[in-house]
Amino acid sequence: MSNQITNYDGSVVTSPQQLVYAETVNQIQAIMKDTVRFPGPVRAMGSFHSLTPCASSSGTIINMSNMKRIIDIDETNMTIRAEAGLELIDAAKELRSKNLQFVTNVEIGNMTLGSAACCQSKDALDQGQVDSYVIEIKWVDPSGQLREASITSDPDLLYRMRSSYGLSGVIYEVTFKLERLEAIRLTYLLRNVADLTENEVAKVVGNNQGVICWTLGSVAVFECRNSAPKVDSSSRWLADVRRMLWSHVVAFVSRYSQSFMPSQTLKNLLLDGWFAILRSSYRVLNWIGGFTLHDPDKIVDYRKTPPSGRYAFTFWAFPREQWLHTLKEYLTFREQHFRRYGFRCNMPLGSYFIRKDVNSILSYTHDGDIISIDPIHAYTKADKAAWNLFLTKFNAWAYQRKGIPLLNQSPFVNSSHVVAAYGRRWHEFKDWIRKEDPNGRMLNPFFGELTM
Ligand SMILES: Cc1cc2nc3c(=O)[nH]c(=O)nc-3n(C[C@H](O)[C@H](O)[C@H](O)COP(=O)(O)OP(=O)(O)OC[C@H]3O[C@@H](n4cnc5c(N)ncnc54)[C@H](O)[C@@H]3O)c2cc1C
Repeated sequence: MSNQITNYDGSVVTSPQQLVYAETVNQIQAIMKDTVRFPGPVRAMGSFHSLTPCASSSGTIINMSNMKRIIDIDETNMTIRAEAGLELIDAAKELRSKNLQFVTNVEIGNMTLGSAACCQSKDALDQGQVDSYVIEIKWVDPSGQLREASITSDPDLLYRMRSSYGLSGVIYEVTFKLERLEAIRLTYLLRNVADLTENEVAKVVGNNQGVICWTLGSVAVFECRNSAPKVDSSSRWLADVRRMLWSHVVAFVSRYSQSFMPSQTLKNLLLDGWFAILRSSYRVLNWIGGFTLHDPDKIVDYRKTPPSGRYAFTFWAFPREQWLHTLKEYLTFREQHFRRYGFRCNMPLGSYFIRKDVNSILSYTHDGDIISIDPIHAYTKADKAAWNLFLTKFNAWAYQRKGIPLLNQSPFVNSSHVVAAYGRRWHEFKDWIRKEDPNGRMLNPFFGELTM
């Protein structure tokens, strides 16, 4: 198929009849109105870094990558207004030259601002969810009309738009709140999961501005973020190394440590050895007191990452108080799955601490603080089916424990999962989408099943 498009990690492939690289708002309006030439479902696409088919369509895909102008950076009101196809990393670079930054400098630099404005996102080292800081959204609705909502003109509509996933139309312009460029320090704390207590977890999340926990084998490494007076020139290179590790090295080594080993025993030894090296690196960082960097230097650019350096993951959120118990149960689930199916994830397990946030209807922290459990894996052709089976089993396991999945970052999410996770808000969301798009012009089979 000439229009075949594959997402970043290769897990989602879609072939629209019409693939349009939009250049203007008028063009988007014309597409929306012409149901014959541009058949539904009509889906907007950013850089297709989602892990689910949320942007997929057999009808029409509007790729936003040619609409990436910065319209205005307002240093008085501390806002940036830009077209929706602009990638976070490019916007951050421009802001940086003016000593400014986004409030949430999410690690994925290639998320477009359009997607950031209307999808769920996570960043544990800043202020959680990117969409909470979008203060104005302009879009073309399913009938081709221009619409807008802002924090002042219609906060209720903005609350819905912030998790609309392109189901109420195509966003063409967004305005985000900004902050002054900030120096931060990352510090590291290593603990055996078996010895960790609720009290310690409460202290770690209470005493730091941001926390991610990486679990390597049975050791939890807390990566903690706090403001710093300045960036030490001696540690600047560590931020470069951190980005290089995520964009090229960790997935590459994880993948190939497994690929060429003739026996399972050797594979296990090598993976254990690799995790031991990663733990030692974190121990060194702990000994030297961590390092400082500018907050936007956390943002990683994956544009030059070759397929060999790419990874896939899933994300399920759990109430903060439930996390440690659930993490310990996860380690047992992981072991049992490995014994039964011979598969285990070859990258560190991520856990993001995200604070309560009621700024969007599908905020996964609407009911309180969460910490996630995110298995990460760099798969090969040989173990792709095993990874998919693991994801399905993990979904069932997380669902039983009242986990909350994301619509763009939890592969194989289904309607039972979202109904249980979002409850009343899910029904409210569905009713609103039906009102905004009565003919289902934007509804692809993925969202069709979820909103049945
Ligand atoms: C290696 C990797 C690392 C990642 N790390 C993180 C991370 O740290 N934090 C995090 O939060 N996420 C992370 N993600 C997930 C990713 O950021 C999200 O899935 C994000 O939504 C992708 O943005 P995108 O621009 O690629 O959107 P797409 O995947 O192209 O689209 C996502 C959804 O947004 C809709 N959409 C896109 N543009 C528009 C528009 N202009 N108007 C209306 N709807 C639109 C699409 O229709 C679709 O429903 C990561 C993904 C990968 C592959």
